[in-house]
Amino acid sequence: MEQDTIAAISTPIGEGAIAIVRLSGEEAIIIADRFYRGRKALTDVESHTIQYGKIYDPEREEVIEEVMVSVMKAPRTFTRENIVEINCHGGLMSVNRVLELAITHGARLAEPGEFTKRAFLNGRIDLSQAEAVMDMIRAKTDKAMNVAMGQMQGRLSKLVQGLRQELLEMIAQVEVNIDYPEYDAEEMTHQLLIEKSEEIKKEIEKLLVTSRQGKILREGLATVIIGRPNVGKSSLLNSLVHENKAIVTDIPGTTRDVIEEYVNVRGVPLQLIDTAGIRETEDIVEKMGVERSRQVLKKADLILYLINYNEVLSDEDLRLFDAIKDMDAIIVINKTDLEQRIDLEKVKQLAGNRPVLTTSLLKEEGIDELEQAISGLFYDQGLEGNDLTYVSNTRHITLLIQAKKAIEDAMNAIEANMPVDMAQIDIRRTWELLGEIVGDTVSDSLIDQLFSQFCLGK
Ligand code: GDP
Ligand code: ZN
Repeated sequence: MEQDTIAAISTPIGEGAIAIVRLSGEEAIIIADRFYRGRKALTDVESHTIQYGKIYDPEREEVIEEVMVSVMKAPRTFTRENIVEINCHGGLMSVNRVLELAITHGARLAEPGEFTKRAFLNGRIDLSQAEAVMDMIRAKTDKAMNVAMGQMQGRLSKLVQGLRQELLEMIAQVEVNIDYPEYDAEEMTHQLLIEKSEEIKKEIEKLLVTSRQGKILREGLATVIIGRPNVGKSSLLNSLVHENKAIVTDIPGTTRDVIEEYVNVRGVPLQLIDTAGIRETEDIVEKMGVERSRQVLKKADLILYLINYNEVLSDEDLRLFDAIKDMDAIIVINKTDLEQRIDLEKVKQLAGNRPVLTTSLLKEEGIDELEQAISGLFYDQGLEGNDLTYVSNTRHITLLIQAKKAIEDAMNAIEANMPVDMAQIDIRRTWELLGEIVGDTVSDSLIDQLFSQFCLGK
């Protein structure tokens, strides 16, 4: 397959002092050399070296930038093609001019994700690894970054490929039994088929258990702070934002155009909901009515419900309790520096098995315990092991759910004493669905769609 040479700015626009223009393709080195002046021509330097030189506009006979240029020859590169990376220091204007020069001298502007797509198409990485690159770009905390890294290194791929191998062996065994009944192979009895299917189903389930955590790491724990007016909601929001690194992200290529605010609480990214409009959900129940506020609250993964230590429980408090029935919540009794008027026992009873904490946001007391409780909720299932494979990608989760269903269908067919070829179809389908995770059995249009979600320059 003949591939043209692509170019893009591969560092975030406007961020950092150094910007990189990256070229990839057969002619990357030749093209870059057309507007580079250095001690040696780029075509003469050794692979995987960095050159110091100048970017020169031959038409205008003008030096644009002093640069460091990395030259990496195929196939030991990210895309498995020739790659040139031009490190510029001169801000946005000159980076753009360097990119323009690359385009006018024979490269084409890369589409979003095209570098990674080439790495995938050239067999350098599989699809779940390519998606991990995308996740890494968007990672909101170190923890999320680690998950993406693990996936990038192929942890999920390896697990999935292992399962597919087992499925393939099952299929082969059954086939032998059908085609050569006289052949004395280990017979794939119904019992054995069921057992193997059961094992595979369990493995898929294990992966799915991690998906909630994985999704939260990736997307953030959608958090809403509720409580009566003046109870301290703004104060809590501020202290969460100030105590922790606020992560402001602008996720390109998604439907969410609003800038969302995240804070990193002990490795758990909290997405403080509705920061654009109702930054705090003051009087949420009163303003929207119980039914609508329930709808809003339903979208939350976590409710922080503030109650005033200095006041007796009001009807509104009770209504809020009712609105968050059955939801993950932490009850925070604030203003402990004032006189106690709240009935603590009653609150604990209403809270059920959800944590009840006390704070004085004014005196900055109890905030540590609150953060502890938040991360405790998240890691409650003891899943924090570092080498654990979190499944975080929605597409992967969907495929795993379908694969689980397919293997269950197989088991049902076997148990109902249907002919083995019936179960065979479901087993094969399981194998195919898992294959879609790593990209063995996906269509071109899906690939195009996936890669188009990337940022430019990746
Ligand atoms: P919101 O209306 O729920 O957002 O409440 P705010 O955060 O705006 O706080 C309302 C008032 O309560 C402000 O004057 C805060 O300074 C005060 N406040 C917040 N937390 C505490 C606390 O722990 N103790 C005391 N005494 N006052 C507090
Ligand atoms: Zn407020």
